[in-house]
Amino acid sequence: MATNEDLANLLFPDVTESIEDLEARYPARDLKEGAQVTRFAPSPTGFLHTGSLFTSLISYTVAKSSGGVYFFRLEDTDTKRTIEGSGDLLISQLAAFGIVADEGYFPEGDKGAYGPYKQSERKGIYRAVIKELVRRGRAYPDFCTPEDLDKIRKAQEASKVLPGYYGIYARDRNLSVEERIARIEAGTPWVIRFKSMGDHDKKTKFTDAIRGEIELQDNDTDVVILKSDGLPTYHFAHVCDDHFMRTTLITRGEEWIPSTPIHLDMFRALGWKAPKYAHIPSIMKLDHGNKRKLSKRKDPEAAVSYFLEQGYAPEALKVYLMSIANSNFEEWTIAHKTFDLSAFPFSLKKMSLDGALFDEDKLNYFAKELMAKMPLQEEYAAVLSWAKTHDVSFASRIESDPDYFKKILNIEKDRKNPRKDYAKYSDIYPLVKFFYDDEYDAIVSSPLPFQEKFAPSLLAQVLRSSAEKMPFGVEESVWFDAVKAIGGALGFAVSNKDYKTNPDAFKGSLSDVAEILRVALVGSKQSPNLHEIIEILGKDRCVERLNKVASLLEA
Ligand code: GLU
Repeated sequence: MATNEDLANLLFPDVTESIEDLEARYPARDLKEGAQVTRFAPSPTGFLHTGSLFTSLISYTVAKSSGGVYFFRLEDTDTKRTIEGSGDLLISQLAAFGIVADEGYFPEGDKGAYGPYKQSERKGIYRAVIKELVRRGRAYPDFCTPEDLDKIRKAQEASKVLPGYYGIYARDRNLSVEERIARIEAGTPWVIRFKSMGDHDKKTKFTDAIRGEIELQDNDTDVVILKSDGLPTYHFAHVCDDHFMRTTLITRGEEWIPSTPIHLDMFRALGWKAPKYAHIPSIMKLDHGNKRKLSKRKDPEAAVSYFLEQGYAPEALKVYLMSIANSNFEEWTIAHKTFDLSAFPFSLKKMSLDGALFDEDKLNYFAKELMAKMPLQEEYAAVLSWAKTHDVSFASRIESDPDYFKKILNIEKDRKNPRKDYAKYSDIYPLVKFFYDDEYDAIVSSPLPFQEKFAPSLLAQVLRSSAEKMPFGVEESVWFDAVKAIGGALGFAVSNKDYKTNPDAFKGSLSDVAEILRVALVGSKQSPNLHEIIEILGKDRCVERLNKVASLLEA
């Protein structure tokens, strides 16, 4: 009589390695108490999704804060969805966020003792484990064609029962070993299915590190574990890889919760201790009043590259994502006056269970805080490097006079409460372009926003007199006293208080004088500190601009 051993040898004649051999090849990791081994295991199917960055950030943080290991595994078994080169792209995009694995797949070659870290290179491991499952009668070849499966599905629809390969619908589950061998020998194509011993009327319980206890229906489906292309399915590869890579905590998207009973069923069948699970909530978006998952197709912000192209500092997006992960994070940043993620006591238990709403204003808040605190030299280098790829004309302006641009960037920066104008690098140029003469000429070629109550001749007088008398290279207070004197001589109040008590006695207030100068020099009523601007523009440029606008007003 033929045995499962015969069947296993017929299916996998070349496999000589046993599960014991694999256990010896991938020994338990030598880690300190409490250290977590986590991983990020993307499929190479495109760009880095914001949700994936979120998941990898959490995986990385848990490993690092516990003194454990974070590794990267490339899940490339779905060859139809694989996009050439996207695995390497994911790695470089993660690296831009400082998320670099301790071990795993790297474009230049694997690093670490638990590899290979690319699933398509792990066929030998999967086949060895599946051979053992066949030998134990816990996996079997299924000969159903797509048409056969379709028939089963239709029968299930007609009987209004759940779809799937289980119970009486698992057509080839109970074939005899002889029958199986005969079909294989006749050359009938096959896949391998896991033989579940689960009972749909019973429950599987597990503790999720974020959600606590979860109770779901037991798995009773005989899922495919080895496809006809010789590659495993996600379900099996996950169980096998996370066992032999000695992962202690599976951080993965919440869409995997319903499949967890399948995975636990397999861990049980193999006699392996299942790792812990932490199912990460999805990032949501408000769409016409409805909350929905951030969508790769509909939302540009679903792609991490969107933020990089806009010129958000990678750290800003990371910090924002941490504020979604733990709602106490923002409070912590204020109390500790830092945005250093490595110092934050992240907690899986404090993660909110409903997916967080993506909030651009919040992102901008963190981004502005971080950019304001960034040291000048670092900010300069980051802006220039961003501009070189995303705004070449801005880059060439910067490079035409780096010191001038550094001074511009440094306005109201080097102080306890720095100015927070910019959330992203693309915010900078529109706000500072008036510093560049051709841009300034274009601005003043349109009507300037002077207050209408001032006659053009008066405005021109203020500008001419300032061009003549305004001091340069002096302290702000000295400069301001001079502005007062210039205004005073032309009938403006020398203090705002004087003006308030008797507005009719003056042509305008001291603030009006400053505004006239600002509009003439900058082209707008709003700008950072005017004295700093004047000092950066320098005497020649300022005098030229003041006279130029005066002439336009006199014309
Ligand atoms: N490759 C799976 C995915 O991209 C990974 C899920 C997991 O982390 O286990 O969804």
